[in-house]
Amino acid sequence: MEKVIIVRYCEIHLKGNNRGYFEKVFQENLERALRGIRHEIRRPSGRYIVENFDESRADEIVARLSKVFGTHTLSVAYKVSADMDSIWSAVLTVAPQDGTFKVQTNRADKKFPLDSMQMNAEIGGRLLSANPRLKVDVHDPQHVVYIDIRENGTALVFGAYVKGAGGMPVGTAGRGMLLLSGGIDSPVAGYMIAKRGMQLEAIHFHSYPYTNLQAREKVEELARILSEYTCGLTLHVVSVTHIQEEIHRLCPAEMMITLLRRFMMRIAERIGKKTGAQCIVTGESLGQVASQTIEGITSSESVLERFPVLRPLIGFDKTEIIEISRRIGTYETSILPYEDCCTVFLPKHPLIRPDLAEVERAENKLDIEKLVGAALDSAETLRLS
Ligand code: ATP
Ligand code: MG
Repeated sequence: MEKVIIVRYCEIHLKGNNRGYFEKVFQENLERALRGIRHEIRRPSGRYIVENFDESRADEIVARLSKVFGTHTLSVAYKVSADMDSIWSAVLTVAPQDGTFKVQTNRADKKFPLDSMQMNAEIGGRLLSANPRLKVDVHDPQHVVYIDIRENGTALVFGAYVKGAGGMPVGTAGRGMLLLSGGIDSPVAGYMIAKRGMQLEAIHFHSYPYTNLQAREKVEELARILSEYTCGLTLHVVSVTHIQEEIHRLCPAEMMITLLRRFMMRIAERIGKKTGAQCIVTGESLGQVASQTIEGITSSESVLERFPVLRPLIGFDKTEIIEISRRIGTYETSILPYEDCCTVFLPKHPLIRPDLAEVERAENKLDIEKLVGAALDSAETLRLS
C-alpha cells in the first residue's frame, strides 16, 4: 500500500487551447515547491499524483503544495491494486474511528465488478460490521471515505480533501514589481496578485541610518514568507535617504510623502524595466491614509509612462486585509514595530489632495535624474526562496 498525494487544480480547466501551457507551468511550480524532497510527479488526466516520496514527509509535502497557486485541493491517498481485498485494507487505514460517515466511490474503470453504488453499499456495510461506533449518514456525514477506481488497475483511497491556495499558476500572468514596505498591506497585495498568476520581484526602500537594520530584516522576512507563494522572490533594497534629505532641504514639508512616492515609482519602474517587469504593484487601499486619495494616486502615477500600477487591495477594508495577512502568515512579522522610511521626516500635515502642478513645481528644485541614479547605484539584490 503506497502513500501518494493527489493534487487537483483550479481554473486551468477553463483554459481552452492554452491549457497545456498552464499545466506545464503549474507542474514546474509544484516541482519547485518540492525541491529537496525526493518525489515523482505524474499527470494522469485532469490532476497530478505525487509519489515515490518518504512517507514520513507526506504532511510537509501537502503543506508546501497547498501554497502553490493553481492548487484547488489535495488529498493524501493510498494507492492499491484495484481488487476488493486491497481496497478494503486501504479503507481500514483511512476510515474514521467513530461518528457518521458515507462511502463515495468513483469508478473510472467500468470493468470493475461492482458499480459505484454497489461498492458504496459493500464497503459501508463492512465498515459498520467492523466498528459499532460508526453510523451511516449519506446526507451530512462527518467523514467520507473516498474510493477512486482508476482505469490502470489501481485504486486511490482517501479520507479528506485539503484546501489549496487557489488561483492561477505563478508565471502565467506577466511580471510585476511589488513595492514591499514593512507594513501589513503590501505583502497581502503581493499575495493577491501572485494568486492571479503574476510573477513578482519586490523592491524595498529604506532610509538607513534613520531607519534601522531591524526594519530591513523584517522586510527580508516578509519577502521570505511571500516567496513561498511566489515561487521564490528577488528583493531589491534601495536607499532613499539622500532623496528624503534633499526633499526636506528644498521642498515644502507637507510634500515629503507625495514627492517620495513619485521617486519610489520612478526607481521601481527603472529596475522593473531592466528585469522584465511590466507593471508596479502596491498595497494601497483607497482612502486608507492621507496619501491614498485619488489625487495622491494621480500624483504618484503620473511619473510613469506605459507602466501601469496595479493595486489589488484598492477596495479592501483594513480588517479584510488583516484577515488575509494572518491567514498567509505575514501578520506577526508586519506588526513588529520598526520604522519605515515614510515615517522619517513625516510632516505634521501631509498633503491629502496634492495638486499636480504644484507638486511638479516643488519638484523642479530637485535634480531628479541625479537622485534617481544615486538611489539605483545603492540598490542591493537578494534572492529569497
Ligand atoms: P503597507 O501596510 O503596505 O505599508 P500602508 O497602509 O502603510 O501600506 P503607505 O505607507 O501609504 O500605506 O504605503 C502605500 C504603499 O506604498 C505600500 O502598500 C507599499 O506598496 C508602498 N510603500 C510604502 N512604503 C514603502 C517602502 N518603504 N518600500 C517599498 N514600498 C513602500
Ligand atoms: Mg506602510
